Amino acid sequence: ATSEGEILGYLYSKGIKPDGVLKLSKDVVKMVCEEYDVEVIDADPIRVEEMAKKKEILDDDDLDKLELRPPVLTIMGHVDHGKTSLLDYIRRSKVAASEAGGITQGIGAYRVQVPFDGKPQTCVFLDTPGHEAFGAMRARGARVTDIAIIVVAADDGIQPQTTEAIAHAKAAGVPIIVAINKIDKDGANPDRVMQDLSSIGLMPEEWGGDIPMVKISALKGENVDDLLETVMLVSELQELKANPNRNAKGTVIEAGLDKSRGPVATFIVQNGTLKRGDIVVCGEAFGKVRALFDDKGKRVDEAGPSIPVQVIGLNNVPLAGDEFEVVGSLDIAREQAESRADYMRNERIMEKAGDGMITLSSLA
Ligand code: GDP
Ligand code: MG
Repeated sequence: ATSEGEILGYLYSKGIKPDGVLKLSKDVVKMVCEEYDVEVIDADPIRVEEMAKKKEILDDDDLDKLELRPPVLTIMGHVDHGKTSLLDYIRRSKVAASEAGGITQGIGAYRVQVPFDGKPQTCVFLDTPGHEAFGAMRARGARVTDIAIIVVAADDGIQPQTTEAIAHAKAAGVPIIVAINKIDKDGANPDRVMQDLSSIGLMPEEWGGDIPMVKISALKGENVDDLLETVMLVSELQELKANPNRNAKGTVIEAGLDKSRGPVATFIVQNGTLKRGDIVVCGEAFGKVRALFDDKGKRVDEAGPSIPVQVIGLNNVPLAGDEFEVVGSLDIAREQAESRADYMRNERIMEKAGDGMITLSSLA
């Protein structure tokens, strides 16, 4: 292995002075790779950004303690193409209604058991279909989704929000599965949809490409099992992993104020295990986790990687897309939340002061 210092030395010897963040042009990277006899992989800059993001969630010392975790999915697509129907069908048919009185209230995400590889396996659906939520979270730097399901109605084809959803998924480096929906309808033309998708760069696996496409009827539940199996296949290829044996880190996917319970937030744990009694910082909010509820409204003591959990005990309502992290003490939590609040306040002032003048009202 070549050390960082050695490469830096080599760069200096070539008269290249890398800056702190080591941004190198493609040509320089190629030159270095040739010098050290390393294969050049032409990395897509967005992919690199996402990989960096992933690494932020996983620390170096996690890397030898990783275990497989369930995939987290988002359903996107044009309005009326059947996102809600698909979510509803999956929830109705796959979430064990016998448990603790079934689904009491939505927490913004739910777990589904899918038989795969001879045993039931979990996947997690984010309950907020629509690219708005996805886009807003992404704009805040959050990356929660592992796989995007793009729903396209077979009688309506590619529409503006279909293209937008595809762009979001691509920008986030998230693998896409297409659900061609409403195949039960007169006038449904799934082949036409596949043709149109391939013309915008999504080539169906069926035709030798790399995008799985499943023809379904969300209304009748037709082929939804195939879709879920495809999800598990894609997930298996992704080798999604986390270290369950450490303090939790993750992202807020939903938050609000409950009349009796105070601030309530749904977290997706992305690394580690969140436990009752943990102290968390979460954007500008912080607190001690007083209670945890799972997606069925059942009290739980902990939640591991990929698991959505509702959290009570925060001092304030965080924002969807805020990251949370378990810290050692309430003092540390308060300090971090306050410095985050200061930072955000400054950002807002800078934004408002764009025209040069800071007035009292811009500080409000
Ligand atoms: P969303 O806007 O993407 O969430 O779409 P919805 O799930 O609300 O569906 C829009 C309309 O299409 C509703 O009237 C659904 O009943 C209907 N719909 C959804 N999926 C299917 C399907 O597979 N077949 C048929 N015939 N209608 C569907
Ligand atoms: Mg809907």
